[in-house]
Amino acid sequence: MKPLIGITSDIDENGETFLKADYSRAILRAGGLPVVLPAGLEDIDEICDRIDGLLLTGGEDVNPLLFGEEPKHELGKIAPERDEMEMALAKCAVGKDMPVLGICRGHQILNVALGGTVYQHIYSDLERDLLQHKQQANRNYPTHTVQVTEGSRLAEYASDKDILVNSLHHQAVKEVPEPLKVIATATDGIIEALESTKHRFVLSVQWHPEALFNRGDETSLRLFEEFVQASSKS
Ligand code: MN
Repeated sequence: MKPLIGITSDIDENGETFLKADYSRAILRAGGLPVVLPAGLEDIDEICDRIDGLLLTGGEDVNPLLFGEEPKHELGKIAPERDEMEMALAKCAVGKDMPVLGICRGHQILNVALGGTVYQHIYSDLERDLLQHKQQANRNYPTHTVQVTEGSRLAEYASDKDILVNSLHHQAVKEVPEPLKVIATATDGIIEALESTKHRFVLSVQWHPEALFNRGDETSLRLFEEFVQASSKS
C-alpha cells in the first residue's frame, strides 16, 4: 500500500484553504498518496495516527511568540492557526518517529516545535553581508549554492557536495535544538537544512525542492523518493 502523506496547507482571509499543487505532485511522483490537511484542523492526534508521513510546507512567517520573542517591525504576515496545528503535528510525528519533511516555513516550524528559534528578518537581525535569499527569479530556478555536510543523509541524495537551490525566505533558523543538526549552509552561513540524528527520517530544507522537481532536479527527486520510502515502512 502506498504511504499516506499528510501535507499542511495555508488559509487565506476568506477562510479558503490553498496549497501549491507542486507539493502533491512531488509526493505522487515519488510514490506516495497525498492528503491535504487544512489549517486550523482539530483532532491532531487522530490525524497523526492515520498518516504515514508528514510534509510541512512553505508559507507565512512563524509567530515569534512561539519561541519566546516579541514581534519585531520587520516581521511579515503570520498564520497563528496554522502555526498551532503544525507545531502539534510536528511534535506528534517526531514523537512517533514518523518521517517528516519540512520545506521553507516547514523547516523553521520543525525547528521551533523541537525548541529552536528563528531570525525574524535576517537582513536586520544579522550584521554581516547576506545573499539574496528572497530571489527575484522564478521559483523554479535555483539561485544560490549550499554546502552539504559530509556524512549527512542529504549528502547521500545530493548530486554534489555543493548544490544549487532556490531561495524564497527572509527568515532563517537561528538556534538548533537536539537532536537536530545543521546539514547544509549557504556561503553566508545561513542554515539551509537540518536533520535529526535520532530519528529514521526527520529532515528539513530552507529551499523549495517541490519547485526544483519541476525542472527534473535530481537531488529534489531523490529527497521526495527517500521521504516517501521511509514513510512506507511506518
Ligand atoms: Mn536561501
